[in-house]
Amino acid sequence: MQTLETLNFQNRFVRLGGEFYQYKPPTPVSNPFPVAKNPDVAGLLDLDPQEFERPEFWQHFGGNRVLPGAQPLAMVYSGFQFGSYNPQLGDGRGLLLGEVQNEQGEFWDVYLKGCGQTRFCRGFDGRATLRSSIREYLCGEAMAGLGIPTTRSLAVVGIQELIQRELPEPAAVLVRIARTHVRFGNFDYFHYTNRPEKVAELADHVIHHYFPELESAPDKYAQMFAQVVDKTAWMIACWQAVGFGHGVMNTDNMSILGETFDYGPYGFMDRYNPIFVPNHSDIHGRYSYAQQPQIGHWNLAKLGETLTHLVEPERLQKELEQYAARFNHYNRTMMGRKLGLSVLDSEFDNLVSGLIQLLSRHKPDHTNFFRTLSGFRCGALDALRTYFPNNPDELDGWLDRYTRLLEREDVSPEEQKEAMDAVNPKFILRNYLAQQAIDRALKENDYSEIERLRVILKHPFGDQPELFREWSIDPEHYASDTPEPYLGMQVSCSA
Ligand code: AMP
Ligand code: MG
Ligand code: MG
Repeated sequence: MQTLETLNFQNRFVRLGGEFYQYKPPTPVSNPFPVAKNPDVAGLLDLDPQEFERPEFWQHFGGNRVLPGAQPLAMVYSGFQFGSYNPQLGDGRGLLLGEVQNEQGEFWDVYLKGCGQTRFCRGFDGRATLRSSIREYLCGEAMAGLGIPTTRSLAVVGIQELIQRELPEPAAVLVRIARTHVRFGNFDYFHYTNRPEKVAELADHVIHHYFPELESAPDKYAQMFAQVVDKTAWMIACWQAVGFGHGVMNTDNMSILGETFDYGPYGFMDRYNPIFVPNHSDIHGRYSYAQQPQIGHWNLAKLGETLTHLVEPERLQKELEQYAARFNHYNRTMMGRKLGLSVLDSEFDNLVSGLIQLLSRHKPDHTNFFRTLSGFRCGALDALRTYFPNNPDELDGWLDRYTRLLEREDVSPEEQKEAMDAVNPKFILRNYLAQQAIDRALKENDYSEIERLRVILKHPFGDQPELFREWSIDPEHYASDTPEPYLGMQVSCSA
């Protein structure tokens, strides 16, 4: 177990040299204080959770003192935002402190978000709202619990500062960890400033540290691209399976390792809706739920363009073309598991299309429809019917077809329910639940609901009766369909 003073920083990105970043210490803050503490992430860093109790923790991670071994830097990147190239982005309000290696040999980027202006701030204040920091903190944990690749956070540090958004708002510093903070946008930047040698250095860095098995391959850059294609396809298939909308799939928000990255105006859909758009500013719905898989392809195509000095165009094209096949494979496999079906033939495909039509027409709660379907053979028919009050026949028609395919599977109803429950979550981070935690934090300085959500979302597939008994809370409060007044809320981009 390490202390703040002995965290094992082994910084690697810094070795790329000054063209890749700006050295910059965090901007000091007044009276940093604890809002959220994540013992699980502390564990990943080998950091003793007792360290949360030291005032120095909040001084260091609020930005008042640089941790021993840290080398804070703002990364240079650019990116395609809503389809248009923005040549100058970069870490405008975030700093990579360095990389911590734990006893298992894993490396974790440790990064502060909202820690003051950098060379790349473009006139913005370099800060993050408490609200958006809590949202990012909670969603990282929700995704980790669901088994979806994601960045996570060690802590949310409150700071005694109001920042101007639509209204003045409290600010915070988020302490984020990730496998890497290299984004598609880092490649964009060097490609579009005509420095292919820097693109190559960056690719070599990625291969050396994240894909070392490719290092001696003659076609290592093509293989690296193939890996990114595959990881991106997997990540987006995971999103689709749980009804997650990222909200801002710009290339500067795409991790080169396929981790869900840079949570802003994201959302989990409540009622099934293919054109679900969580981001209030996305007026054309570019990043709607149903478009996410294609946007993944578009972003990968842009990444491929940055590698044209390293890989022949035909090879890049060939690897890019794999994306649809990879995505479809992951998507079908996951849909099979959600439905408890292992025979994935053309009848299965027809059943899934029928289901998507049914869901699109009747818009049941996405999460709870699938969770209830897990119990179909264990007496949940009436519960399922409540989602189709005006047209139970349509559901019954689909269930007849479903039953025929279930009969091909050799599992008991109980086993099947158990297997389906293990992939159809009971608890997701509903927007209104996150908002309730935020409201308590902002209005009452009460951060307990953030911690409660963290604990619940750690095991989203379990009923967790002990937990709710201990708290004397009805689990339905966290698991029920989103109440009518909270449906269809969008989140503003201002963060
Ligand atoms: P995002 O929409 O959070 O992915 O950010 C897009 C770009 O804007 C990145 O370069 C951020 O660093 C920058 N940015 C966003 N908000 C701020 C802020 N308050 N101060 C400085 N830079 C910001
Ligand atoms: Mg971003
Ligand atoms: Mg952001």
